[in-house]
This record gives sequence, structure tokens and C-alpha cells, in this order.
Amino acid sequence: MTDAATMDKIVALCKRRGLIFASSEIYGGLGSTYDYGHYGVLLKTNVKNAWWRAMLQERDDIVALDSAILQHPKTWEASGHLAGFTDPMVDCRACGQRFRADHLGDLPCPQKPSKHAGEGPQCDLTEARDFNLMFETTMGPVKDSGATVYLRPETAQGIFVNFKNVLQFSRKKPPFGIAQVGKSFRNEITPGNFVFRTREFEQMEMEFFVPPADAGRWYEHWKQARLQWYTQLGLRADHLRLREHDPDELSHYSSATADVEYLFPIGWSELEGIANRGDFDLTAHSTHSGEKLEVFDPQTKERYVPHVIEPAAGADRATLAFLVDAYDEEEVAGGEAGGQRTVLKLHPSLAPVKVAVLPLVRKDGQPEVAREIFAALRGRMQAEYDEGGSVGKRYRRQDEIGTPYCVTVDHQTIEDETVTVRDRDSLEQERVAIDELGDLLALRLAAPWQSPKLATV
Ligand code: ATP
Repeated sequence: MTDAATMDKIVALCKRRGLIFASSEIYGGLGSTYDYGHYGVLLKTNVKNAWWRAMLQERDDIVALDSAILQHPKTWEASGHLAGFTDPMVDCRACGQRFRADHLGDLPCPQKPSKHAGEGPQCDLTEARDFNLMFETTMGPVKDSGATVYLRPETAQGIFVNFKNVLQFSRKKPPFGIAQVGKSFRNEITPGNFVFRTREFEQMEMEFFVPPADAGRWYEHWKQARLQWYTQLGLRADHLRLREHDPDELSHYSSATADVEYLFPIGWSELEGIANRGDFDLTAHSTHSGEKLEVFDPQTKERYVPHVIEPAAGADRATLAFLVDAYDEEEVAGGEAGGQRTVLKLHPSLAPVKVAVLPLVRKDGQPEVAREIFAALRGRMQAEYDEGGSVGKRYRRQDEIGTPYCVTVDHQTIEDETVTVRDRDSLEQERVAIDELGDLLALRLAAPWQSPKLATV
């Protein structure tokens, strides 16, 4: 059986259920920027919280940071972004479109989509030239005399420039890390594939500072730890891999880099990069700022510049991978309104809504009892109350946003204070006493989980 998920189906579901939609839609959209609706916000927030949890709550050697998007322009001089954060770009004289020169083989020709860009009969490409991906703006009230500043193209540099601050207040010494989640901006030449590559996106980056001699060991540690994070959150292991960069792919600052790749419908693509950045960043910022960015080794009684291991992930790209991995279509037989259902088999901890409370009918005291149950549950988990339409339709709606449990109040509830609990994945229903419901759901939501798609695909 092949995987039901295609990019078009994911895009359609996200729009239908209000997870993610094109930005500025009433004005015809703005090239590759997206807005997140209610369930999309809940889902992406759960992804980011899972990342924070892995970085902060489950460890005691990482601290958090939230640095500004606008930074002193010297930051980007020191980091090498002003001079070198470029992609090779070509223009087509025939259609006027621009393409990333190194992606030509993946992009269709706009005039003859059966051919790759540059291979159509009319194509007339210019020589490749470097295009800087940083967005520029002006700081201050007067455009002409104001200083040029840049929207940060990565969150990492905010961490390096705050190294000294963090060292002073956190009382940490290597090995330790600084973690940050926030928006980054890149004027990508060819954005696309929904939220996989956009011009405004969120990153989840952590810089882990280590004694130089330990860098290799920590690089190995973070590769495995980051791969595991995705599998623990339910991504199928056979759709994930670590790919070590060839020497000619390495960035100027990196001695080793590996990507966590996911098998998207567009093929194996990067989800996250883990890089051994050496002392490049701290040394560069030290040189440009004149501040010493070093630590003291109490054993050798010497000061040194720590080396850095960086796991750098994208919150939107990870959210897309979780959506793709969860998307399924299946025939529903038996008691429930039959036919096909679309369902997001998301890990319960990522599901936007954990439980929906549904009165079977809108009479006989059922809505009142259901509202009481909803009020009790919502203090413990993200819950939703829904009384509109047939119960079959309401199940389908919850399936499409990945709600793991539906609690249904029916005529028996009024008699014996029990409800049915329906499991999203198995479709099994069981009767549970109302006063045991909250504990039972909390326990199930916290239990180990693996994708039911593993058994079928
Ligand atoms: P790519 O090769 O796909 O352009 P990259 O190697 O430039 O990515 P990094 O600079 O390592 O990416 O950024 C870390 C992570 O940030 C990426 O693995 C990805 O998840 C996310 N990311 C980077 N660029 C974008 C973008 N334009 N849109 C969405 N997410 C992005």
C-alpha cells in the first residue's frame, strides 16, 4: 500500500480545517508566506513546546534565550552573512523568472512544465550570480540617512553575541548550551512546497559550547539525540535518516555537518542540520567586537574559546513533516457512518486538541451534561465541545484535526453517569464512568505511542 499523503492533499486539508493558509489571501497572496489558523497554532506550539521540553526540562545543561530579530549590522559582517550568505541565481531571458542555479534540476520550466527550468525550447538562462538572501530594512525615521539593518536570517547569531551575558548570569561552564526559538527571514530565490521553504519561518536552534577536545563526541551525541526526538514524537523511523555532508557541501565554518532528513512527498529533504562549527563564531564576534568571548578552564588554569555543536531545526518544516507522517485515508466500516475518512494520526502530545466532548443529540439533558464534562476536562487538557451536526460528521471533523479521543454523551449517560470514549486510531469505543474520565484520558495521552501507519504502509 502506498502512503496516502501528497503535498496537495496536505495543503487542501490545512486550508479546509484552518490549520495553515496563504497569507494576505484577500489581496491574492504574498509569495510564499503563510498564516497559521487556530489548529495550526496549537499544532506548531506543541511542536515548539516538545523541543523546549527536550532542551530545557529533560536536561540541566541548557538555558533559554529570546534575542531580538534586528541586531547590530556588524553581527552579520562578523558571521560572514553579509559577504557570503548567498545562493547562485540565474534569470531566464525568455520568461523573466528567476531560479536557484543549484536547483534547476528540481524546478519545472514555467512555460513548459514537462521540462526542467533551463531545458525548455525557449529557455535562455543568464550566467549564475550570487544573490544575498538577507532582507534589508532601515532603522530610524529617515529612510535615506537611517542605518541599514537586516532581518535575521538565523537565530544562532543572537546566541553568540549574547554568550558573555549568558555566561555571567547562568553560572554554566562548558559543556552547556543556549537554546532559542524564533522567526528568521530569508529572501529565498525559489521558495515553495508549502511551508517547507518560505521567506519567513521559525527556527529552533541550540548552540552547545564544549571544550575543543570533546567536540567530536558531542557532535555524535547531538546527531543521535535529535534523530530520536523525531521518532519519539511518532515520525516513522523508516521515513527518517541521518545524512552526513560530503566535504564539498560543508559551510565555511563547519568541520562536520549532518542533516536529519525526512521522506517528504517531494523526496528525502532536510528537516534539521547538526553542525560542528568549531570556534568560528565566537572568534569572529570577538575579533569584530573587541570583547573576549572565552571561558576559564579551572584544571589547566587557562582561558580558551569553546567549540560549538549546533542542532538547527525549523518549526514549520517539522510541523509539515508531522502532518505528512500523520495523514491517512481509510475506509470506515460498521457502526460509524460508513465511507472514507481522512485522519491525522498525530502523536497525542502534538495533536492540537486532545479530546472532543459530543452530546449525541441536542436534547434530553445531554448538552448540559456534556458541557459539565467539557468544563472539567478543559482545565487538564486542550478540549473542545461540539454539538453541531450528526455525530458521524463530528467524528470526521475531529479525525481531520487529529483529536485522539472523542467522548460521547448519550441516553445511557443520563441513566448511569458513563460516557463512550472513541479512539481515533483503532476506532474502538468503550464505556467509562464520568468520574474516571479525566485520569484515564491523561494516562492514555501520556502513554508511549507509535504511528499506526507503520502496520499498514
Ligand atoms: P536548506 O538547505 O533547505 O535551504 P539550510 O541548510 O540553509 O536549509 P539551515 O540554515 O541549516 O538550513 O537552517 C536550519 C533549519 O531551518 C533547516 O533545517 C530548516 O528546517 C529550517 N529552514 C531553513 N530555511 C528555511 C526556509 N526557507 N523555510 C522554512 N524552513 C527553513
